[in-house]
Amino acid sequence: MLDLTLVAARDTALPEPAEIRHLIGGAWRGSADGATFERRSPAHDVVVTRAAKGGAAEAEAAIAAAREAFDDGRWSEVSGKERAGLLLRVADLIDRERERIARVEVLESGKPISQARAEIEGAADLWRYAAALARTVAGDSHNSLGRDMLGVVLKEPIGVASIITPWNFPFLIVSQKLPFALAAGCTAVVKPSEMTPTTTIILGELLIEAGLPAGVVNIVLGYGDPVGAVMTTDPRVDMVTFTGSTAVGKAIVAAAAPTLKKVSLELGGKNPQVIFPDADLDSAVDAIVFGVYFNAGECCNSGSRIIVHADIAETVTERVVALSRKVAFGDPLDEATKVGAIVSPEHQAKIDAYVRGAVAAGATVRLGGAALDVPGLGGQFYQPTVVAGVTPDMAIAREEVFGPVLSVLTFRTMEEAIGLANAASYGLSAGVWSENVHTCLAFARAARAGTVWTNTWMDGFAEMPFGGVRESGQGRELGRYGLEEFLEVKTVQMRIGRTRA
Ligand code: NAD
Repeated sequence: MLDLTLVAARDTALPEPAEIRHLIGGAWRGSADGATFERRSPAHDVVVTRAAKGGAAEAEAAIAAAREAFDDGRWSEVSGKERAGLLLRVADLIDRERERIARVEVLESGKPISQARAEIEGAADLWRYAAALARTVAGDSHNSLGRDMLGVVLKEPIGVASIITPWNFPFLIVSQKLPFALAAGCTAVVKPSEMTPTTTIILGELLIEAGLPAGVVNIVLGYGDPVGAVMTTDPRVDMVTFTGSTAVGKAIVAAAAPTLKKVSLELGGKNPQVIFPDADLDSAVDAIVFGVYFNAGECCNSGSRIIVHADIAETVTERVVALSRKVAFGDPLDEATKVGAIVSPEHQAKIDAYVRGAVAAGATVRLGGAALDVPGLGGQFYQPTVVAGVTPDMAIAREEVFGPVLSVLTFRTMEEAIGLANAASYGLSAGVWSENVHTCLAFARAARAGTVWTNTWMDGFAEMPFGGVRESGQGRELGRYGLEEFLEVKTVQMRIGRTRA
């Protein structure tokens, strides 16, 4: 008998499907060939969105609009004060529309309503933070180059940015990029994931309402091929900022190479948490359970593998299994739900294949390990799953599962723990649990990761830069670094005062 906490379907009165179109040059447009695509709710298995399906023509028109808007200075030459004012108005409008955006996000992504709301709130905070940064765009000056020379370093907007986003946090991730691009003075073409396009379209409506000049932000709906492909190859685009899978990130680097665009990438992760015997186990177990099931594990920062000291491995595994049984899985529209649906049937099959593969390779499923039926809902769900006896050679230990599946590995020495933590080709985030600050710092210094959490997991702040190393990406979002990504450095050397002769 499955002893899990399930939330059966409650709210089945879903709205009519949203009908959405591209935003190009300030106007809402369908595709020239009339093509459309649909999105089914992963939890309810009904159509919730009908979208215009962009082709090369729409991508090119959007790029032309963004290029013209950049070159004529309608945004790039506006003062930081005015840019900040607009970003603040957008933040207020996001707050006003929070419930509407959150509900759409639940229907398209399958995540629980409480977490969708928190995501929208977090996004509004990023628009406010970027507004503050808009007034700080500044280079520096050099007055020690000789008495008749002055050197000035200017920071200028890089130009037209292509922004390509994934389905797992659609509103948050566009808000990790777009307000920073706008704060810098860039113009943009945005392509949301074909699975979760509508919240980005709502953002487009809010940008217009806030008074953003036409053409500064353009949104094209559709697939990686051809829309994403045009956005990464067209010579009129100056940079690409992408969040998504490592495989597509590598393809984008290759696509952007002939025109040498700047490319900033936020990719996958296989994030380890190392638990030492002196850790506060109550906090660690809480964080492990939160870290693996948050967003159904469909999270770049998923704490998908724990590396536990052998002396406490059985205790930690038992406690994680016991707490996992209490996490509410089910209807994402119910306030009580903590874990919703898996984004697509294909993705569900992929998650299951990782678990089967681990079992075939000798690992043991301690909890879950199969699809989950939620009464009253037709979509796809996966059981909370804990796999013990995982060894570093197994695919489940090295690759991104992107589901509610925890791998448990063990260690005896710090060196071994560091070796296991750094064994995956990813380097997004890592964590360490110990009451000894020296242990924590030693691990933090040795971890090959963009972010290290000590005695916590998955905290995020607008002020703190976020990004990965190795196959988790390049470049940083958030903090001052998030603004710098969209700025170019220009050196001006001026001869002043006396001439040489
Ligand atoms: P994906 O790579 O399949 O798609 C991401 C976006 O790229 C979509 O909009 C898609 O249409 C587009 N795309 C696909 N092929 C393209 C191409 N050839 N050229 C240009 N664009 C193309 O990723 P996904 O499945 O939507 O998202 C899940 C992945 O995103 C996971 O690997 C996850 O770890 C990663 N992710 C990373 C972060 C981070 O900050 N590091 C955050 C969230 C998600």
